[in-house]
Amino acid sequence: MEALWGMLPEELKTLMQSWGEPGYRGGQLFKDLQKGLDFDGMTVLSKPLRERLRTEMPVPPVTILEQHESQEDGTVKLLYGLNDRNCVEGVLMRYHYGVTLCVSTQVGCAMGCLFCASTLDGCVRNLTAAEMVGQVLCANRLLKDSGERVSRLVLMGSGEPLNNYDEVLRFIRVVTHPDGMNLSTRRISLSTCGLPDGIRRLAKEGLELTLSLSLHAPDDETRKKIMPVAHRYTIAATLDACRAYYEATGRRFILEYALIDRVNASPEDAQKLSKLLKGYNCHVNLIALNTVKERNLYGASERQIARFIDILTANGISATRRRTMGDDIEGACGQLRKKRLEENGQ
Ligand code: SAH
Repeated sequence: MEALWGMLPEELKTLMQSWGEPGYRGGQLFKDLQKGLDFDGMTVLSKPLRERLRTEMPVPPVTILEQHESQEDGTVKLLYGLNDRNCVEGVLMRYHYGVTLCVSTQVGCAMGCLFCASTLDGCVRNLTAAEMVGQVLCANRLLKDSGERVSRLVLMGSGEPLNNYDEVLRFIRVVTHPDGMNLSTRRISLSTCGLPDGIRRLAKEGLELTLSLSLHAPDDETRKKIMPVAHRYTIAATLDACRAYYEATGRRFILEYALIDRVNASPEDAQKLSKLLKGYNCHVNLIALNTVKERNLYGASERQIARFIDILTANGISATRRRTMGDDIEGACGQLRKKRLEENGQ
């Protein structure tokens, strides 16, 4: 059974009724679970019911194993432990407009992007919705003392969200539910390496999520060198799906582009990218690659980045540079988990 934390009020209502409780207990339970209360703290429920929940229901799906706070910008890198001893990562970023949490959707990842540490050992398994909710609850618990709360989510931790479609959607429906955390779908970004069928399916869900496509290249040849998914789908087919997403939702989409020295960061690449994106309702987020020495991939220099952005802007393409945060705490995907696996000799 889906662990309680990934269940919607209607489902909890059915569960409670099957236990001989009145249906409204389901709604009360949902509220308390999404507040992060443990069963003992759910004083609105009767004592015998709390007792039964404690003995029959799975323990909370996620705990924090490690936390590292950046001295530079307050970013917190988290390593979460799951009940089967797997672990995944998260990053909590503090901006002037609130706290953003980067959520993982799978243990590892199957997509094989050359620059990404999450994918080095492939995909171990999908996360359940409850395990994704658990990440947000852990972060909120951490923030409690400072009076902060997670207000935005980016599905940019380990994993390819569209390869774990049903659980990711369930997660989104739970955290946006008005009786729970009540996050706004507009404040949730789903980032994908670009699976056109999944993008088209998402377009039909009637959600106002921000769609981010990890593009990272101005043409198919370059993309194939760094992202295996480019062998399956052309950039044209992927952008077509993004256009369909825009048409269905009215939300412009974001293109993630990590600038890699001598791979995709030259002025010619910027010209090519401008041409490619003409006519799309999109915005380009540029970032310097977090260098991966093992793969000989290095982040572009400040000068290269500035020139790249100037060219895009001059060509009428909306583009900004995303701040890199938490460089001093292994902020990039998968680095912390990788380190821990290595330390444990795995
Ligand atoms: N699978 C999804 C989401 C997880 S990756 C996706 O591909 O979008 C989140 C983002 O981090 C992606 O844009 C990914 O390309 C980027 N990323 C991974 N490794 C990186 C690195 N070393 N430097 C900069 N960005 C990186």
